[in-house]
Amino acid sequence: MLKKILALLMVVIFVCCGCGKKQDEPMANDLNTILKRDKLIVGVKTDTYPFGFLDKKGHYSGYDAALARIIARGILGSDKKVEFVPVSASDRMMKLYSNEVDMIIATMSITSKRQELLDFSMPYHTAGQALLVKKGSSVKSLRDLNGKRAIIVFGSTVETSLRTAVPNVGVIGYRNYPDAYKALKAGKADAIVADDTILLGMALKDDSVVLLPKRYTKERYAVAFRKGIESRDLIRAVNNVIDIETRKGNLKKIKADYGIK
Ligand code: GLU
Repeated sequence: MLKKILALLMVVIFVCCGCGKKQDEPMANDLNTILKRDKLIVGVKTDTYPFGFLDKKGHYSGYDAALARIIARGILGSDKKVEFVPVSASDRMMKLYSNEVDMIIATMSITSKRQELLDFSMPYHTAGQALLVKKGSSVKSLRDLNGKRAIIVFGSTVETSLRTAVPNVGVIGYRNYPDAYKALKAGKADAIVADDTILLGMALKDDSVVLLPKRYTKERYAVAFRKGIESRDLIRAVNNVIDIETRKGNLKKIKADYGIK
């Protein structure tokens, strides 16, 4: 009797520990999870016009949100099958790794440092770092910021690159782009350094600020995923959608709608 009980206990422990898993059982796969859920959960910005922002009715808008809807249509058959979660430059990776979102579409550039922690889709847009200054400013280039103050947004690529490019710049960081813009207007610094597309969004609405013409980097925006084999099928599906929609000219059309070049 005791032997029988021991044997039964062994079987229970074996199964509970997952040792009884069949060889051909599928591994965790993010695409399967999304298909089963029948909904895509995407992290997008709400402070980054014209890529991720809320319109007057509080709807998620911009190129990144539109791309998320297109991906939902490609994978799940309807652009309504998407739920948005607001992310910022500094918390987007955390929201991906805490499984709050399936992917991030949030003006995120591919960098080699980020590639150690994330997987990326093919790029869907190329931006470049630039300067936004007040009209009449003596700052005409990145070099002119030496000994002056510049505004950046925490978690953005420029946060790490600016001090290397301009060693004697005083850096003031903000959590989001609207606060960065307000700080420039209030004269807290001489320029905002950020992606041209984001700065253009500010310049288009306000002719007291100027986007300077020079671009200092190439920022290739891509959809970001958790790094690992479980993302492989999902990345393939997303790349497929980006590829098809690019060839159809649909992504170009969306960009034009938002004034993105
Ligand atoms: N593209 C840059 C980045 O990935 C800046 C835009 C942003 O703050 O998200 O960091």
